[in-house]
Amino acid sequence: MATVELKNVSKIYSENVKAVDNINLKIEDKEFLVLVGPSGCGKSTTLRMVAGLESISTGEMFIDEKLVNDIQPKDRDIALVFQNYALYPHMTVFDNIAFGLKLRKIDKNEIQKRVKNVSDILELSDLLNRKPKALSGGQRQRVALGRAIVRNPKVFLFDEPLSNLDAKLRVQMRTEISKLHQKLGVTMIYVTHDQTEAMTMGDRIVVMKDGSIQQVDTPLNLYRKPVNTFVAGFIGTPSMNFIEGKFLINNGLEFNSLDESFVFLLPEKYIKKLENWSSRNIKLGIRPESFSYEPNHDDSVKIKIKISVFEPMGNESFLYFNLGGKEIVSRVPGIIEQKVGNEIDLYINADNLYFFDELTGNTIYV
Ligand code: ADP
Repeated sequence: MATVELKNVSKIYSENVKAVDNINLKIEDKEFLVLVGPSGCGKSTTLRMVAGLESISTGEMFIDEKLVNDIQPKDRDIALVFQNYALYPHMTVFDNIAFGLKLRKIDKNEIQKRVKNVSDILELSDLLNRKPKALSGGQRQRVALGRAIVRNPKVFLFDEPLSNLDAKLRVQMRTEISKLHQKLGVTMIYVTHDQTEAMTMGDRIVVMKDGSIQQVDTPLNLYRKPVNTFVAGFIGTPSMNFIEGKFLINNGLEFNSLDESFVFLLPEKYIKKLENWSSRNIKLGIRPESFSYEPNHDDSVKIKIKISVFEPMGNESFLYFNLGGKEIVSRVPGIIEQKVGNEIDLYINADNLYFFDELTGNTIYV
């Protein structure tokens, strides 16, 4: 059993640097919680406060319902894994994994047993006599994980552990850490700036910006129901497209882009919720995957576009074009080869549109 709770936690480094601003968060037992956001948004500081490596300026931190504000890192029963593996270069894999246990004066036989168990889990058994320099990046990262696991901590903290690895290895380690979470059944808090990592690993994701929490939710809820333009733009690749405009009541409800070059009638289902917003400045959000070559829904909106960039990915392609005065990206099946300058018809799935208050950036729920 290991929960972590932050109550009104802030970190003020100096008068003008409020790195973390009044965070309230409860991480459940055995949960895999991901903190995600752009560089400098306060993720690492939050994690380091949980670890006890950074003092808390105001607020309270609980681990297993025990107030830990003044508890030393070594007494918090947590393990932290960083992006630089911080392995001891002169020690073998075995000694690197066993190091923390030896410091704690754990019995030799017990150390043997635990290191064996951990190296079996992480498939390091054949490498125990090697030094770190004779290991690949992925193997070093596994040793760093082993060193954390062997101590049986209550909570695992990860700070961008995969950012030093190449793309392929990152994907592989991502699944390994997810499997490890299932196997060990422990509480994990994971910091990353990479939304794909967050989406694929987290039970729940905390999206942060400028030291504040924007939204805490499951990956799919963040994708489907973002609370504002920041979350909507951060979750999903390529990012959601935004077009500024207004609604006009005109035989129904019409969207008009600010430059009036893109106008269409909204499906019935939106009218009730959106008519109050007519004439106010709003942003329309369209996910790249809501475009298609063929109408795939009764509410598809036909548009004529001129391709400005064509990015074939194989199974799918990204087409860039101008719509409503904005550069838009769409994500369509890769079967058709396109050329820059091609003028084609596309369809927008108008069943799945997003709307935001231009002033606050907040979602207008429909
Ligand atoms: P992230 O992990 O999201 O990239 P950090 O938690 O590292 O963000 O940093 C949050 C903010 O706090 C940034 O503006 C950063 O410059 C500032 N910061 C981090 N550490 C310190 C420090 N030791 N002293 C002063 N400011 C710091």
